Amino acid sequence: MPYSDPDLRDLAARLAWQVAAGADEAILEESVDRYQSEPARPMLAEAPPPPLLVAAPSPPATRPAPMRGPTVVSSRVAPATPSAVGARELAGAARSLEELQEALAAFDGCGLKKTATNLVFADGNPAARVMFVGEAPGADEDRMGKPFVGVSGQLLDRMLAWIGLARASSFYITNIIFWRPPGNRNPTTDEIAACLPFVIRHIELVAPAVLVTVGGPATEALLQRGDGISKVHGRWFDYQTPGLERPIPTCPIYHPAFLLRSPGQKRAAWRDLLGLRQKLVSLGLASI
Ligand code: URA
Repeated sequence: MPYSDPDLRDLAARLAWQVAAGADEAILEESVDRYQSEPARPMLAEAPPPPLLVAAPSPPATRPAPMRGPTVVSSRVAPATPSAVGARELAGAARSLEELQEALAAFDGCGLKKTATNLVFADGNPAARVMFVGEAPGADEDRMGKPFVGVSGQLLDRMLAWIGLARASSFYITNIIFWRPPGNRNPTTDEIAACLPFVIRHIELVAPAVLVTVGGPATEALLQRGDGISKVHGRWFDYQTPGLERPIPTCPIYHPAFLLRSPGQKRAAWRDLLGLRQKLVSLGLASI
């Protein structure tokens, strides 16, 4: 039910977050099987978003190519192969998001393209100042050609709504892999290495004020950290590549699919999101 009173709206949003965080589940009659993959849950009523972020300046339509090839490559990502070198050239030549998406559509260096239905490039507002990077598309994303539209994406949207971020206006979202791995298996190091130049160029073209890596694989690929998401979530790092004018403050968060399997971690996830909101406030990108 829509609420016109801002206080009621705020309360309803808080309640929706509590429910999304599983606060009501301690009193379920039957235990929940957390090991089922992404259970089909009914969507919660949409929480009305708290005050929106201040309008973002539009990024220039085109950006200069980086002076050198991207240098941020995870220690666990496979070394450069001929196809990775081709990917760097293709990605580096893109001057706009449209050109980058076209270059990806023409790129045959990642075997996942053969089994996927759609290229899953990005969603949200490319002019927003916050960019999220997740792992890989699943079945729903493959079908719709958009990232984070399945059950875990819906949870992420609800969590972000609580800190005032709405996909349509105030964030942009993509993955480190652009095609669905068959059967939702983990992407291989070769597949991550093949896509990484496009991810790096993607971030350079968007040039967000704040970057958020969603889950362990995205964090490892972009921040070169091998110490695991449970150690680094909620902390702030600088992400820098030659094509960026300045380092981007970057925060890893838990992946929503993990939170669906481990609801006990939602408290930590909530703290991380409050830290993100605090960072946006400190950068003048959100009001308190
Ligand atoms: N999980 C991801 O990491 N990305 C998606 O797009 C969907 C689920």
